[in-house]
Amino acid sequence: MSKTISILGSTGSIGRQTLDVAEQMGLRVAALTAQSSVERLEEQARKFQPRLAVLTDEAAAKDLKVRLADTPVRVIGGTAGLLEAAVLPEADTVVTAVVGMVGLKPTLAAIGQKKRIALANKETLVCAGELVMDAAAESGAEIVPVDSEHSAIFQCVQGCEDRREIKRLILTCSGGPFYGMTAEEVGKMTRTDALKHPNWKMGPKITVDCATLMNKGLEVIEAMRLYRLPLEQVDVVIHRQSIVHSLVEFRDGAVLAQLGTPDMRLPIRYAMTYPARGENPAEPLDLLTCPPLTFAEPDRETFPCLRLAEVAAVKGGTACTILNAANEEAVRLFLADRIGFDDIFRLTIEAMTDIPVTLNPSLEDILAADAEARTQILRRYL
Ligand code: NDP
Ligand code: MG
Repeated sequence: MSKTISILGSTGSIGRQTLDVAEQMGLRVAALTAQSSVERLEEQARKFQPRLAVLTDEAAAKDLKVRLADTPVRVIGGTAGLLEAAVLPEADTVVTAVVGMVGLKPTLAAIGQKKRIALANKETLVCAGELVMDAAAESGAEIVPVDSEHSAIFQCVQGCEDRREIKRLILTCSGGPFYGMTAEEVGKMTRTDALKHPNWKMGPKITVDCATLMNKGLEVIEAMRLYRLPLEQVDVVIHRQSIVHSLVEFRDGAVLAQLGTPDMRLPIRYAMTYPARGENPAEPLDLLTCPPLTFAEPDRETFPCLRLAEVAAVKGGTACTILNAANEEAVRLFLADRIGFDDIFRLTIEAMTDIPVTLNPSLEDILAADAEARTQILRRYL
């Protein structure tokens, strides 16, 4: 059970929902961090009185320091601040809610201090899953997933002592806003179209990833790393209603699922209360009024990013790092209206084809592969 938390990425979608949960549960907040959202971080710091507030953008941090001068909150700038926030001794839990690979080093630092990691930042596990899981096994830090599918699986495997009993993980996927379209129709979709997710309100990067199905590809890798399972044991099914959050099939044929209304505050709350469960003021799921639950095969031809991620997952080593870095940069360009929707797949597969993969990578190898993939894309779009 968490008592004091630090939130990396507190101004984002997951970060703000975590603060809702912290308020409801009466948790203390040790550190809050963001990139450049000065006003929102000031507001959060005044309300939750953390010891530390960090903005990685130095100019924004200076501004925040002036704004919070009348409070005891310490303000620091730069990415080093993220590391400091990750290891504050009074926090027992670090919620990793930053977007992208920037979460890797602070997550490793928090693991080194044996904090509970409430892990939303999936890119960290995609880029360096083995390294992160090995570090957690060594330090004894608990990693409790916040991503709804992985939280569902985590809940379904409670009590399963021997992971060989798991036959298959089944990740559900909403299909995103372009479900059912032809490849030609999808290719014409714009930033505004991609940002309209049918069931969840999330940050822009993950929302675009949901439209390409790259999000589900990243989640396949995330699940493989969390449970140390091969790709053959991780399946994806389309489930438009986002009510069944994922399922686990066991050797004896039993299939367990976790259901709930689509609200990230449930998995966030579980990451705080685990292994216990607390009261949740949210609307309960009503099976009699919820829409019929349907399941279908994903269309990997129209949404080739899912297959690309699966290919990277099988290659292993830095292949997933390259996939992730190229996708992050391509999505950034797409959100800036610099490239089209199909270019996200094109740029990512190009990076994966051009850049050699290092197996059993060290942290340095991972950081180098990440930088190389980003540079390859940015050189063309300077
Ligand atoms: P948002 O874009 O809403 O928020 C991102 C947060 O990270 C903000 O606080 C932002 O600060 C901060 N941030 C962004 N870039 C940097 C950087 N370079 N350095 C430091 N801080 C940075 O993202 P989400 O909350 O949607 O997603 C966060 C993570 O959780 C992602 O990995 C996502 O895949 C995962 N996730 C999200 C879900 C959701 O429902 N939103 C569901 C499942 C997983 P600022 O405000 O200053 O930009
Ligand atoms: Mg998810």
